[in-house]
Amino acid sequence: MSQTSAAINQTAIDITGELKSNAPAFKENRLNLEKHVLKSLAEKKDFQRYIHYIKNPQSYTETFITEQVETLLGTEYKDKCQSFFVTNISNLQTHIRQALHEVSKKIKSQNRDIVYWLQEFTTIIKDKLTFGTISSENFTDVKDFDFLKEQIEKGLDGIGADLKKLSVDKLKKSRQRPDQILIDQLCDCCWEKCPFCGAVCTNTVKDHKTAKEGGIDHSVPFHRSGSLKGWHYRHTVQMSLDFCTTKVASDRLFHPDYSDRTVPFKTYRSAGPPYDTWSITPDLFQLSYWQWVVCTFKDDLEKHFNLKYEGRGEIPKAWKEITFEEAIRSLEEMYK
Ligand SMILES: [Zn+2]
Ligand SMILES: [Zn+2]
Repeated sequence: MSQTSAAINQTAIDITGELKSNAPAFKENRLNLEKHVLKSLAEKKDFQRYIHYIKNPQSYTETFITEQVETLLGTEYKDKCQSFFVTNISNLQTHIRQALHEVSKKIKSQNRDIVYWLQEFTTIIKDKLTFGTISSENFTDVKDFDFLKEQIEKGLDGIGADLKKLSVDKLKKSRQRPDQILIDQLCDCCWEKCPFCGAVCTNTVKDHKTAKEGGIDHSVPFHRSGSLKGWHYRHTVQMSLDFCTTKVASDRLFHPDYSDRTVPFKTYRSAGPPYDTWSITPDLFQLSYWQWVVCTFKDDLEKHFNLKYEGRGEIPKAWKEITFEEAIRSLEEMYK
């Protein structure tokens, strides 16, 4: 009888609810989760993680959730897990004792055999537990229901020893892991990336219709420097530093593909897919956070893309003066 695993499954569900209501990264909306992902990336200062995030934001966000849940369950939520587990074990014990009592009473008054006894018992508790080793075949020679009842009760008392052993590792074996439940809930949304900078569409609906299809186009409140996606001036190694919001406000042109075709940034939609399904509002605002990222990982980015922050891609002095604290503050202010 897998009573402990039933309690573990329930504990996984309970603790996920707790994380969703209280853990800062999980308790609000999608944009809030993104803020926490970006904050943690800046704190870790690990270029490979940035590249993972920029190239595959969904996969990185899932990794973030898993790592975050593991840390929280091993630290500030450890006691909470244990107390959920104790409550769930105790609820199950009560439930089973009641079932035993009810069935025994019924059987005695109806004078039925042990096969019937087990059937009744499993029917009552089947939504809570599954039977492993106990089956009617194991008990064909047991004439007395009271014996079986006693055995099960003894088993229930023995569960107490398991109470002390709940660990994060055990929760990982639950039917649905807390991080997986959170991933299913928080990552079921649009993950389209801005073709100019890689910023992720913040629409909460997965596969949402675009304007052409009667829905709304992909959009994101904050774009990034095009250099983070390797945009550069054609036939040079000079990075294209500006944010796409600035570019679409300019009179400049871009090459949407490897051909000689040029399209004005102002009418970027005329470049066709994927440009025509993005709504990018012209704006001169540039989030300090991404300016800090460019400056902090300048050498790594140059090496990664085999390009240079020089000539027209030279980083302005003002960007270099942004501190880590200012970068984080810009996130806090903008992602309210
Ligand atoms: Zn963009
Ligand atoms: Zn979208």
